[in-house]
Amino acid sequence: MSGGVTPMNIARCRPHDQAGFRRDGAPLSLPSVNAAVLAHRPEIPMVCLRPAMATAEAARFVEAFPGSVLYAVKCNPDEAVLRALAAGGISHFDAASITEVRLVRRLFPQARIHFMHPVKARSAIRESYREHGVRDFVLDSTDELAKIVDETAGAKDLCLIVRLGLAKGGARLDLSGKFGAFADDAAALLRSCAPHAAKLGLSFHVGSQCCDPSAWERALQQADAVIRDAGIRLDVLDVGGGFPVPYPDMQPPPLDAFMTAIAHGVARMALPEGCVLWCEPGRALVAACQSLVVQVQARRGDLLYINDGVYGTLSDAGVLGFRYPCRLIKAAGFSTGRIGDFSFYGPTCDSLDRMQGPFLLPDDVTEGDWIEIGQLGAYGTYLRTGFNGFEDVIRVAVEDFTIRRFAPRGKAA
Ligand SMILES: *Cc1c(COP(=O)(O)O)cnc(C)c1O
Repeated sequence: MSGGVTPMNIARCRPHDQAGFRRDGAPLSLPSVNAAVLAHRPEIPMVCLRPAMATAEAARFVEAFPGSVLYAVKCNPDEAVLRALAAGGISHFDAASITEVRLVRRLFPQARIHFMHPVKARSAIRESYREHGVRDFVLDSTDELAKIVDETAGAKDLCLIVRLGLAKGGARLDLSGKFGAFADDAAALLRSCAPHAAKLGLSFHVGSQCCDPSAWERALQQADAVIRDAGIRLDVLDVGGGFPVPYPDMQPPPLDAFMTAIAHGVARMALPEGCVLWCEPGRALVAACQSLVVQVQARRGDLLYINDGVYGTLSDAGVLGFRYPCRLIKAAGFSTGRIGDFSFYGPTCDSLDRMQGPFLLPDDVTEGDWIEIGQLGAYGTYLRTGFNGFEDVIRVAVEDFTIRRFAPRGKAA
């Protein structure tokens, strides 16, 4: 065993604790996931953070996008992740609750926090404006406008951003329907905001894990029509999140294709001089930076009973049917099996706790083996519940970069 593993840097903890990390938030690193498995032989789920990958993805996105990159905090609010993103150049944060606003303000006194939830608690508007320096607020109704004006006592320094509703598009997770003002309403709302706003913005979200760059071009066309109709001067155009990452059944075009589509769409718009661009990626920045090690507790044919599931870190593998890259870590010996298709059952007693996959693994996988499951940095750990008593996880930080290209076979050494 290498890497000086001590009880200090591997700790059993509640999922949202910061154990395994120093007081200043810096993770205590192990060289690799294999070393962590060998050290701990974990029987509860082990969440493995690769902070360097979050830093690298942030730097890549900031470099590629011609405007401000707002990290959508809800995707993964782990302090070590937020610090890693900041190290990669993220200084703007898209918050959707007062808890997220407070968290970002505590970690980054200088950061710009944008309150991007179209329906907010009155107290959240008040506190974020008065105590945390938030000036940017999203809205999609005149009712919300009235709340914002009320709770900021008619402040003169607001940036009000109208969330445009889009028709259902090609994203894996459709976000149309819940939020957004549609064309005519959006134009009218922009006009209603104008007297109350130092700056005016328009935003949209094409839906999460959207693999089609032209979705942004179409959204920008709709935005253009709304802006013309409103007859206002726009200060901020926010092209939202939704940028995709690879999964075993989805190989999206490279980031450049999305940047090119956005550039084309914007070029056709005749935006006023000085109008700035924002985007709000979540998944694209953090999916790669966390993986999960689960243990196989029983095997029945091609069904594996594992110790984490849809009420835990793997909720998107349930109803949404996400597939993730998997790598077998044998408890003993070497794997010589052929690669086959497997489905998972999670640890709770609920029969909905099933993950269809298929997940690719060598067919000599057996009880006691571990599986590293990748691309779980986004919408993973923070969707965990404590249902049925399966609450604890182990958190480690690791330095290996092997997560992207999983060979489905490995050994704990
Ligand atoms: C969730 C969310 C995001 C991030 O979406 P991703 O698909 O993770 O990039 C950005 N903006 C808003 C308003 C959101 O609700």
